[in-house]
Amino acid sequence: MPTAAPQKFEFQAEIKQLLDIVIHSLYTEKEIFARELVSNASDALEKLRHLQLTEKDVHDDNLPLEINITTDEAAKTVTFQDFGIGMTRAELVENLGTIAHSGSKAFLKALGEGGAKNTSLIGQFGVGFYSAFMVAKSVKVYTHSWRTAEPGQLWTSDGSGSYEIEESEGQRRGCKIVVTLKDDCAEFAKEWRLKEILTRYSAFVGFPITLNGTKLTTVQALWLRGKAEIKDEEYTEFYKFQAHVHDTPRYRLHFSADAPRSINALLFVPQENTERLGFARLEPSVALYCRRVLIDAAPKDLLPEWLRFLKGVVDSEDLPLNISRETMQDKALLDKLGKVVTKRFLKMLEEEAAQRPDAYTEFYAAFGIFLKEGAALDFMHKDQLVKLLRFESSLTDAGKTTSLADYVSRMKDGQKEIYYLVAPNREAIESGPYLEGFKARNLEVLFCHEPVDEYVFSNIREFDGKKFRAADHADVKLEDIPQQGDSLSESAAKDLVAWLKDTLGAQVADVKTSDRLVGSPALATNADKLMNAQMRRMMRAMKKPDEAAEPVKVNLEINPRHAIIRKLAALRTTDPDKAGLVAGQLLDNALIAAGLLEDPSRMITRLNKLLESI
Ligand code: ADP
Ligand code: MG
Repeated sequence: MPTAAPQKFEFQAEIKQLLDIVIHSLYTEKEIFARELVSNASDALEKLRHLQLTEKDVHDDNLPLEINITTDEAAKTVTFQDFGIGMTRAELVENLGTIAHSGSKAFLKALGEGGAKNTSLIGQFGVGFYSAFMVAKSVKVYTHSWRTAEPGQLWTSDGSGSYEIEESEGQRRGCKIVVTLKDDCAEFAKEWRLKEILTRYSAFVGFPITLNGTKLTTVQALWLRGKAEIKDEEYTEFYKFQAHVHDTPRYRLHFSADAPRSINALLFVPQENTERLGFARLEPSVALYCRRVLIDAAPKDLLPEWLRFLKGVVDSEDLPLNISRETMQDKALLDKLGKVVTKRFLKMLEEEAAQRPDAYTEFYAAFGIFLKEGAALDFMHKDQLVKLLRFESSLTDAGKTTSLADYVSRMKDGQKEIYYLVAPNREAIESGPYLEGFKARNLEVLFCHEPVDEYVFSNIREFDGKKFRAADHADVKLEDIPQQGDSLSESAAKDLVAWLKDTLGAQVADVKTSDRLVGSPALATNADKLMNAQMRRMMRAMKKPDEAAEPVKVNLEINPRHAIIRKLAALRTTDPDKAGLVAGQLLDNALIAAGLLEDPSRMITRLNKLLESI
């Protein structure tokens, strides 16, 4: 049979874009290409080991499961050979010509989502195979699939937009990747240089590695070794290798358990929460092993979703190698494993929060959003998670936080609820009308600055038997306290309230004198039992431009000691027209403070009329 001539293919547009960045700007640490290629070799060997359990007909079945690396200084080449599963022609096109794999995909998504601005962070994404083009003039992949019937292939590219594939006889099973180095990267063809790079992480590869025929020391499965014999640097290098990242982890948790399940786990919290920085949503990536054999590099059902920021490894002897998410039994087993791991991780956070509060505060600033998500949605771990939440409050300094337990310990006798206010920042809460009544009564109020907070409170409902209560809600009752200053008489206040109800009509559900105002003339409380202010703002943002908004239902509370209110009481008989304008403006001011003003344009006309009278 005549061997076909080389066939030319264009890289997918996204790959071209990726290659362009990889080649021109991406990494300062070019040496990571070696890590990526070794990692692929190791993946291919893992897959083969798995296949050998079920397939009888495997090409070159007797080859050792190992990785052989050779350097040639004169030719400026470095070669990575593995006896893994290899690739067929179709797989070469699929795997090396299109964007299929997770790392590169996440990378491109990040670019699309504005991540390009933050190039240092882009380095946190492994671009896998393509990183070879940081150092390569050309890359050749000689390969033979494990499938006996498929011929060997040669894939060639210089990374500039296209690649070629041709049949190639006499290939062993697996991949042999020959990297011809650019002149300014020739250092990587030096044995000592490559050895230096490889020894840093080759220890974590589960297969033997040789460099120019000499075996490198590999220490299998770091997570199975005793904690006492592992150095910090080893942990960090393992993290970098396993998670394909460049940073140093914030926290690590290494533990083993025998009951109820045999587990060895090594988990890491990265330095940054890339989701928070505007990158794509994280995918679960704690790998699942059974006695050091990789079962799933990114199992979806092992850990709860809010733990998707964790990196690392969970190894359990109890797992069947051919675990299947479809069978109930296996699913239950994964579930149990996940619970043990989650509980331990939460316990570690609890200890960290108690022992090193400053570091915990930093962690919380970056990753707290995941804990909130869990507290709101993961019923199983809610209680542990709620204890880990932190908030600013009216009693903390700006930027400092309190736990709910500490809040409760400071609650006044007779205080039954935990109060909170939601606004984008501290200033907005402190300058608004809602806080003053609580301050005057020495009641602490939690300050919430994230849009999810309201949702989180409505889901967790209570802490230590105390309900969460929005301090700007109409139902909040505050005890009477002696008030300073002249007030309208009770009857004058009653008349004014009746007049305001009449004048403001359908714009208010109710008007009353307030027990919680100190320095402000009025405030609006949300009288809608079903929709809080936050939800209303969300609804408004989602509404189409021509859709009429649901009318706001607020209670207007007025302060009978405030100068404006006292003047208004007189004005409504001496100058009813002007009093009407003042009443309207009073309501709109209160709606602005509540974030509930729907149509500011009506204010302009009114204010102009008021200004005419000066
Ligand atoms: P990832 O390893 O994250 O999947 P890479 O860009 O490193 O992404 O590799 C892309 C794909 O190419 C791999 O998923 C795999 O299917 C294939 N591949 C790469 N190197 C090898 C290899 N040595 N043996 C077999 N397949 C490989
Ligand atoms: Mg890879």
